[in-house]
Amino acid sequence: MTTALPGAVALREQAARLDADDPLAPVRERFLLPPDVVYLDGNSLGPLPAAVPAALDDVVRRQWGTALIGSWNTAGWWQAPLRVGDAIGTLIGAAPGQTVAGDSTSVQVFTALDAAAALRPDRPLLVTDPGHFPTDRYLADAVARRRGLQVRHVPPPDLPHFLADEGRQVAVVSYSPVDFRTGELYDMTALTRAAHEAGALALWDLCHAAGALPLEVDALGVDLAVGCGYKFLSGGPGAPAFLYVAQRHHAALETPLPGWTGHADPFALARDYTPAPGIARARIGTPPILSLLALEAALTAFDGVDLHQVRAKSLSLTGFLLRCADELLAPLGFTSVTPSDPGRRGSQVTLRHPHAHGLAVALAGRGVVADMRAPDLLRFGVNALFTSHGDLLTAATRLRDLIVEGAYDPAPPSVGPVT
Ligand SMILES: *Cc1c(COP(=O)(O)O)cnc(C)c1O
Repeated sequence: MTTALPGAVALREQAARLDADDPLAPVRERFLLPPDVVYLDGNSLGPLPAAVPAALDDVVRRQWGTALIGSWNTAGWWQAPLRVGDAIGTLIGAAPGQTVAGDSTSVQVFTALDAAAALRPDRPLLVTDPGHFPTDRYLADAVARRRGLQVRHVPPPDLPHFLADEGRQVAVVSYSPVDFRTGELYDMTALTRAAHEAGALALWDLCHAAGALPLEVDALGVDLAVGCGYKFLSGGPGAPAFLYVAQRHHAALETPLPGWTGHADPFALARDYTPAPGIARARIGTPPILSLLALEAALTAFDGVDLHQVRAKSLSLTGFLLRCADELLAPLGFTSVTPSDPGRRGSQVTLRHPHAHGLAVALAGRGVVADMRAPDLLRFGVNALFTSHGDLLTAATRLRDLIVEGAYDPAPPSVGPVT
């Protein structure tokens, strides 16, 4: 049962108007979403793109099943990491030949941090965000330990001030443009420039940005970037990640895992390692072809899509959800931790409520999939390729109903939430 509120009518009309005027509305057809589900967790696991099942069927039955090992050449398997890397490159503003797809984000974070430290050998500090995603923090600590460096935790807004004092000591600044908890968007341009003015390298983790907003890694002079294949790129559970290294660093690039597929002549099976020219040296081992080609098919959901339109719609969606939260949920004890300033907002809205866990579980029971981050944050990811304003009103209304009806478990989770 939905409680009728005077404001809800105005919100419903606004949602209908915005959805009717949405130039990206037809793109929703490129995803196979269950009909009765409002899916607001695409920033954690993107839904299934319609192009993937047939593509995977071909990879499995024909390429693998019939052509067997010959597919390394005839089906382009060998080149797939670089080909898929270039396809991701078009979404992050990278010219071809600088992005490779493969391995997990965690592996790529380690690779990028270690390679960056090697490019600035006389500088003893790694700078990262104390609020960075845990894996990025753990791996910064690990790289620092192995190389005898030190980690400094500096919130992104404090970076210019920190660098004014200690900038000449800093090898690399490792940040995400979007805070995965709050959805706050940081100024990539200003932070990259600040790192460069100190002579440090800028490493960006684009997990919550790639596919969600226009990025210009080449134009900004970003040195290295990594990101995830399974969030806004919808490449499937455990999809390969990516690593971007600006071309100017390729000749000097030393990766910590110089595997045989990154060799200049891998099939010579030489005794000693000679790195391949270009980004190919960042390849490690045999790529996971099924996952990689599922990701390649998934990326076709972006064909002909202008990321500036994606950004405009994403801001319209998050702005609308903030309005719904303000009118329907704030009176019931929810507060938003996502900036209301559109220039400081990524593609998610996070609401604080002491019973976030029970509410996320109960919401899923009513067909709205969001997630929570301990202890008290409810996270709603929007993806402009398939989310509608109507979806968000449904989510806010059902959340309101749960509170009014008391239809959720107020106990905190007994085990940690899923990642
Ligand atoms: C999602 C995410 C990861 C995930 O790393 P995996 O190796 O894929 O588990 C890493 N960093 C950030 C910033 C993320 O948002």
